[in-house]
Amino acid sequence: MTRLTDQAWLNDPATRAVVAALEAAGGPGCSRFVGGCVRNALMGRPIDDIDIATTLKPEQTEKAIRVAGLKAVPTGIAHGTVTAVADRKPFEITTLRRDVTTDGRNATVAFTDDWAEDAARRDFRLNALYADAKGQVFDPTGQGVEDAAAGRIVFVGDPATRIREDYLRILRFFRFFAWYGRGEMDAAGLEACRELASGMTRLSAERVSKELMKLLAADDPRPAVRAMADTGVLAQVLPDADDLALFEAVVTRMDDPVERLGALLPLDANLLRRVTEGLRLPNATRDRLTDMAQAAADVDLNLTDHALRVAVYRHGRRAVRELLTRRSGETPSRSGDGDRLRALAATWDAPVMPVGGKDIVGLGVPPGPETGRILKAFEAGWIADDFPVEGHADRLAALITPPRG
Ligand code: ATP
Ligand code: MG
Repeated sequence: MTRLTDQAWLNDPATRAVVAALEAAGGPGCSRFVGGCVRNALMGRPIDDIDIATTLKPEQTEKAIRVAGLKAVPTGIAHGTVTAVADRKPFEITTLRRDVTTDGRNATVAFTDDWAEDAARRDFRLNALYADAKGQVFDPTGQGVEDAAAGRIVFVGDPATRIREDYLRILRFFRFFAWYGRGEMDAAGLEACRELASGMTRLSAERVSKELMKLLAADDPRPAVRAMADTGVLAQVLPDADDLALFEAVVTRMDDPVERLGALLPLDANLLRRVTEGLRLPNATRDRLTDMAQAAADVDLNLTDHALRVAVYRHGRRAVRELLTRRSGETPSRSGDGDRLRALAATWDAPVMPVGGKDIVGLGVPPGPETGRILKAFEAGWIADDFPVEGHADRLAALITPPRG
C-alpha cells in the first residue's frame, strides 16, 4: 500500500478545509486528490495545483464549498468542475465522470460514482492516481505507481482508441515525457502517435499552443522534441521547424519557452508572425520573436562593444541578448564571445534620444520636413560618437544652417 508522506500541501489548513467541506456533504471518502498532485508527490516533484475528484455532483460541490464559508467558482459545471478557493489557493474539484461520446476534441460526459470509470477516461496511468486525505494512494489501473517510479508515460487502455477520443493526447504524451519521462518512450504509445498525427488538425490552436509551451518549459525538452520530429507530430504543430540542430545546441542555455520556440524556427520576421498568430499565442510572444528576427542583421559574435550598444539602442536589450544566445548555439566554438557580449548587453542601459522636434523648433527652425532631417542627422552623429551624455546643444546648433540674409 503506497502512502504519501511529508507533503506540506496535504496538511495545509486550506487543503484540509476544502476536504472537510466536501466530506461534510458527501461523507468520508467522497473525495480524493487526483492527477498531477499525486503523481508529483510520488515522484518527489513540486506540486503547483491541486485537483480533487469527488462523487458529489457539481451543484452539491458548489453548495458544500459555500456552506463551509469558502469561495466556489463554477469554472466548468458542464464538465463537472467547480473551483474552490481557500486561503487564496484554488482547488479544482471535478465530479467523477466517464466520457460518453467523443469527437476527437470534446467529450460529452456522464457523472458516475465509480472511481475506476473516472480513471479509465484519464490519459496516462501515472495521471490516473488518487490519494485520500491521509495520503493513502489508490491506483485503479494497477500500474500508475510503478509508472511514476520508472518515469514511464503509458496510455490508459489502447493508445490509438484514446487518441481518437482526443487528439490533444498526442501532444500530452510528449509533454509528460518531457517533464517526467526516463529512458525510452513507450513504443505502443509512440506508434499510435505516429499513425494518428494527421488527426491533430482538428484541435484548436489554443489547446495545442498551451501544451506546446508547457512542453518547451521542461528542463530538457530535447528527447521529446526529437521524438515528435521522428513521428511527424512536430510537422503537424510546427511545420516550419525543420532543423533541430540549433534547438538542440541552444535549448539548455535558454530557460524561457518563448525563446526556445524561437530556436525551433527560422529567423524570419514574417514567418514568426504567421506562426505565432496561427498558434494564437499572446501578442507579447509574437513581438518578442519578431523583434529578434528584426535585430538579426545587426547582431553577430564579432560585434565591437560600440556596435553592440548600437544594437541594444535600436532593438532593445532582450532581442539582442536572445539573438546572442542563438548565435552562440550556431557557432559553439565562439560561445565565449557570446557570453561576453551578453554580459555587456545586460549591464548597459540604452539612453533615450536626448533631443526632440521641440528643441529644434525652439532654435528657430520652422516645423516641417527640415526638423525631421535635422533630428535624424543629430541621432546619427550622437550614435556614431557612442551616445555622449553632454554637448547636445552644440551638436544641434552645428546642424542648423543659419538662415541666409
Ligand atoms: P500539470 O502539473 O501539468 O498541471 P496535471 O496532471 O495536473 O499536470 P492537467 O493538464 O492539469 O495535468 O490535467 C489534470 C488531470 O486531468 C490529468 O492528470 C489527467 O488525469 C486529466 N486530463 C487532463 N487532460 C486530459 C485529456 N486531454 N485527456 C484525458 N485526461 C486528461
Ligand atoms: Mg494540473
